Amino acid sequence: MTKIILKKGRHDRILSGHPWVYGNEIESVKGDVQPGDIVEVFDSKNYFIGKGYYNSKSQITVRLLTKNKAEDIDESFFRRRLEACFEYRKKIGYHSNYRLVFGEADFLPGLVIDKFGDYFVLQTLSLGMDRWKETIATILQDMFSPKGIYERNDVPVRKLEGLNEEKKFLSSPFPTQFEMDEDGVKFLIDVENGQKTGFFLDQKENRRALQHIAAGAEVLDCFCYTGSFSLFASKFGAKKVLGLDISETAVEQAKKNAALNGFEQTCEFQAANAFDLLPLWVREKRLFDIVILDPPAFTKNRAGIDAAARGYKEINLRAMKIIRPGGFLLTFSCSHFMEPGLFFDMIAKAAVDAGKNIRQVSFLSQSKDHPISWNIEETNYLKGFLLQVQ
Ligand code: SAH
Repeated sequence: MTKIILKKGRHDRILSGHPWVYGNEIESVKGDVQPGDIVEVFDSKNYFIGKGYYNSKSQITVRLLTKNKAEDIDESFFRRRLEACFEYRKKIGYHSNYRLVFGEADFLPGLVIDKFGDYFVLQTLSLGMDRWKETIATILQDMFSPKGIYERNDVPVRKLEGLNEEKKFLSSPFPTQFEMDEDGVKFLIDVENGQKTGFFLDQKENRRALQHIAAGAEVLDCFCYTGSFSLFASKFGAKKVLGLDISETAVEQAKKNAALNGFEQTCEFQAANAFDLLPLWVREKRLFDIVILDPPAFTKNRAGIDAAARGYKEINLRAMKIIRPGGFLLTFSCSHFMEPGLFFDMIAKAAVDAGKNIRQVSFLSQSKDHPISWNIEETNYLKGFLLQVQ
């Protein structure tokens, strides 16, 4: 098997479990290798580090799959890994809808699989993993006898791996819009054309933060997408909910979801830019009991952090101003680059500038089916606060 020899130096990050080997860490490649092939990685003293897949087109040239030299990377390897993923989700109490595979944190770099009842949505974000998608689909067939598997690889990050964007069935075709039940709330999801894989499973536990506080409240859900927080606010007894999203399609879907649950009376949705409406409502002194901010990632790289922090601060500051004294702000950032420290600072500054006192009710993170590997900082991306604003 082709050997990759790392440059002399310390490789603490890799030795402690981070699976990425960057191109500039490689001293030499011994043997023939094609993009996607499995290679063995050694340090400069010829000490075996691990086995993984190779892609010279990517800055992340090798992603390690195992530290066990004797372990072959074949169908049974993927079967064992997928079974371990399934066991973990069962163990932590997930039954129907969950992220079955969360890439690097599940020791399957570049692979994401979401399960929505009997349907699976798969993403392969790296070339090395893309090669195995048919094998993975076969394993899913054996393990779950699903009604359908869909590939949602319309993700720009694949370009960094020399891959095209694509989406298609990995099983017999099936209706890609279907109903799903999440903690007693019904959602119509669209796994073919919805955002990401069709539904944001990572906020599952955080929607429950609305329990108790939503009773009798007037709620504003900015960046509502298909209305998940809005519908849970209604379920938990909100008097009135207004959901905003810039996408007309998302708003249409949110309205359908409200109707599906009989929440048309309480939930209203509007296609609008939150950056326009929040300042307007500050000027108009329009007030809410709860404001929810779950914006998209404002930066996908380090260079964009300052601009992103300004964007987050602006919406948080305005939101704090339109919350009635004693009301709540439920605020998130899903950008890994907006590290927790930066997020805390940004919120603190927004509160000072808004002239508000804030009390932390809870610190929130991604759902447990998106485990955070402490050796892989990129797996820690979603953070949020429930804050009481005075
Ligand atoms: N809270 C949602 C997920 C939000 S994803 C849930 O739990 O399902 C972020 C959403 O923000 C996307 O739907 C996107 O269309 C929307 N969005 C992006 N920019 C926006 C803006 N300036 N104003 C309002 N919505 C925006």
